[in-house]
Amino acid sequence: MNVPVLTIVVPCYNEEETLEETTKELTRVMENLVSNKKISSESSILYVDDGSSDRTWEIVEEKIVSNIYVQGLKLSRNFGHQGALIAGLETAKDFSDCVVTIDADLQDDVDAIYQFIDKYQEGYEIVYGVRDKRDTDTAFKRNTALWFYKLMEKLGVKLVPNHADYRLMSKRALDEFVKYQEENLFLRGIVPLLGFKTSKVFYNRKERFAGESKYPLKKMIAFAFDGITSFSVAPIRFVSFLGFLLVLIGILIAIYTLFAKLFSFTTSGWTSLMLSIWIVGGMQLLAIGIIGEYIGKIFKETKRRPRYTIEQNSFLEKRKGQIIDFIKK
Ligand code: UDP
Ligand code: MG
Repeated sequence: MNVPVLTIVVPCYNEEETLEETTKELTRVMENLVSNKKISSESSILYVDDGSSDRTWEIVEEKIVSNIYVQGLKLSRNFGHQGALIAGLETAKDFSDCVVTIDADLQDDVDAIYQFIDKYQEGYEIVYGVRDKRDTDTAFKRNTALWFYKLMEKLGVKLVPNHADYRLMSKRALDEFVKYQEENLFLRGIVPLLGFKTSKVFYNRKERFAGESKYPLKKMIAFAFDGITSFSVAPIRFVSFLGFLLVLIGILIAIYTLFAKLFSFTTSGWTSLMLSIWIVGGMQLLAIGIIGEYIGKIFKETKRRPRYTIEQNSFLEKRKGQIIDFIKK
C-alpha cells in the first residue's frame, strides 16, 4: 500500500484565539496518521490567512518554524471563506495526493479525518463530512440552512445536505476541480458536479472553540444569493413565465373591455387605458424575460465549465500496460 501525502487546508480569518488549539489538535491527528503509516511524513497543515487584521499571520509564521507539519499561505486581502479555500486547494494540489479542508474553529470533529483517510484508501475520490446533528448551531442558523438546501434543490442545484466545506478530495478530483474556471465559484455546488466515487462520513458538529463566527447574517445572505445565482437561471425563467401569464391575462381583459365599451356605458378613456396597462405591461415583462433568457445563456457560456470528466479510459490503460510490459522486457 502506498502512503499518500495529505494536506489539511485551513482557511483563517482573524483566528488568533483558535490557532493554538487547532494546531495542537491537527498535529495530534497528523502524528497518529503518520505513525500508523496511513499518510506520508511529508504531509502538512496549510493555514490560509485570508487577509486577517489580527495576529493570525504572525502565529502562523511562528508555527511554520516550530512545527514540522505547518505551512502557511497569506492572501493579500480578505477574499472570503470560499476564496481562501480555493487558494488553499489549488496550492496544495501540486504536492499532495489528497487534501482535507476544515475550518479553523474546531467545530468540525478532527477525528473524522481518520475515516476520511480510510475511505480514500478504499478508493473514494471525494469524502464529504456530514453533520449528524446540528444542535450546537442556533435554531436560526439551522432553519435558514435547511430552507437554503430545500430552495437550492428546487432550483436544480445538487448539494449534499448538512455538509459544509469539511471534506477530502483526491488529487484526481482536484485536477478536475481546477478546470472550473468561473469567477463566482460556489464550492459546495461544484464538488458534487465532479462526479467520481464519493462517500460520506458522519460527525457531530461542536460549538466554535473560541472567537466569534465570521459569518454574520449579511455574509450568510450574500453566500446564499451567490450560490443560487451562480448555478441557476430559474429566477430569469420565472420572469419570462410571469410575462407570458400577464400577456394572457391582458388578452382576456382586452376582450372584456372591448365588450364593455360596445355593450354598456363606460367612461371615455377607460378602455384605452385598460388595454395599454395590461397588454403593454405584459409585453414588457415578456420582453425582459426573453432578454433574460439570452443573458442566462451568456451566463452559462462565460463559465466555460468542462463539458465532461472521464473517470476511466480503457484505451489509455491498455497503452500504459503495453508501455510497462515494454519497459519490463
Ligand atoms: N473565514 C475566512 N474568510 C472569511 C470568513 C471566514 O477564511 O472572510 C474562515 C474562518 O476563519 C473559519 C471558516 O472560514 O475558519 C468558517 O468561518 P466561521 O467559523 O466564522 O463560520 P460559521 O462556522 O459560523 O459558519
Ligand atoms: Mg465555524
